[in-house]
Amino acid sequence: MLTIDDLWVNIDDKEVLKGLNLAVPAGETHILFGRNGSGKSTLLMTIMGFERYQVKQGRITFRGQDITQMPTFERARLGLGLSFQRPPTIRGVKTADILRVCSRGAIAPEVLAAAYNFTAFLDREVNYGFSGGELKRSELLQLLAQNPHMVLLDEPESGVDLENLQVVGEIIAKLLQKERRRQHRDKSGLIITHTGFIMDYVNADRAYILGDGRLCCQGNPRELLQDIKNFGYEECAKCRR
Ligand code: ADP
Ligand code: MG
Repeated sequence: MLTIDDLWVNIDDKEVLKGLNLAVPAGETHILFGRNGSGKSTLLMTIMGFERYQVKQGRITFRGQDITQMPTFERARLGLGLSFQRPPTIRGVKTADILRVCSRGAIAPEVLAAAYNFTAFLDREVNYGFSGGELKRSELLQLLAQNPHMVLLDEPESGVDLENLQVVGEIIAKLLQKERRRQHRDKSGLIITHTGFIMDYVNADRAYILGDGRLCCQGNPRELLQDIKNFGYEECAKCRR
């Protein structure tokens, strides 16, 4: 689904990613750990193709196509979807309208919202005045409407209370076809999390730690999270399993 070879990325002349390699097969969900400022968001924003993130070297391949130089909207059309860590507010655009645009007529905003208790937000401007949990639900519903082949989720549980967490988890499970048997799934996910909470819903296949601009450790998601809790990122980065 997604392959990244030797990716070097700068933001405003600051080197953030330094030779990162990564592969997410179709039907798999991978988790990305890393301390604050390690470049996790930078990686997702670069995969999505935002201009601020300058690719100095390396290649990003998605569904067999080299997308390294492709504009963001074309990547979205190819089936890449992103949920932002800090979603922007869009004044003047109603949530129902953006859901309609995302789904390109495939599903009515009312139907989608009704399924996830979001009807009251349809007439409100996108993310304007939304609470932490409402922001994340709004983001994820837009992704559901878009129905991408691969979702990039940047800390989907941050700022979300316990009740909303369950809804967030359910939407993510839906996005990743977790109701299907493994061999019948073809959607993929790359998820940034600090708490690992989301792993209760998605049954992730693999996890990595991002450190010093590349993946410095990888393994079973729950084991890796436990190691980080026990030993901290610095020690984890040294073990290089
Ligand atoms: P993470 O998501 O892992 O917390 P980020 O990818 O957001 O980390 O940031 C990686 C590094 O790049 C951080 O040191 C951050 O301060 C820096 N950075 C992010 N945006 C900019 C910017 N616009 N200008 C300069 N440095 C930036
Ligand atoms: Mg981040």
